[in-house]
Amino acid sequence: MMRILWNSLKKGILSKKIEKVSASPRYEETGEELRSLIIKKFGRSLHIREVDTGSCGACESEIISATNPIYDIQRFGIDFVASPRHADVLLVTGPAARNMALALKRTYEAMPGPKFVITCGDCALNGGAFKDSYYCTGDIGRIVHVAAHIPGCPPHPLTILDAILRLIGRID
Ligand code: SF4
Repeated sequence: MMRILWNSLKKGILSKKIEKVSASPRYEETGEELRSLIIKKFGRSLHIREVDTGSCGACESEIISATNPIYDIQRFGIDFVASPRHADVLLVTGPAARNMALALKRTYEAMPGPKFVITCGDCALNGGAFKDSYYCTGDIGRIVHVAAHIPGCPPHPLTILDAILRLIGRID
């Protein structure tokens, strides 16, 4: 015990200054633009229901990153919800595994209108790395009508924000 204490006193306090980490200026600008558009067109927050149709998990990691304290997408008026009945947007990841096709269709049907589908990641666009696999239907567009796509494998939070901004910009 004394030896541990002596070693600790000899080494001193091992710590370093915590640096402030923040998102890029472009992310902040895009977010502010999105926030104004959401208030103008919806008069409240935009609610998103996310469905994973068989992804590798990395697209979800980036979506979760967008909600962490650095990117904090919620401050721009984006909210993720558990029920499709509360959702404006269906955000879909993964290559549309056959056993998820019906669940995806039913989730979409449970949403109130107007409703929009955004695919996230290359797999959701055309199967990506899982294209032509026996367990995939091909792409999400064959199951539900897709309004916008977020490219990438996986997409960065800025790309996610940018795609939502472009979609909201097109809504009357
Ligand atoms: S697009 Fe890439 S990161 Fe996203 S689910 Fe497919 S393989 Fe994974």
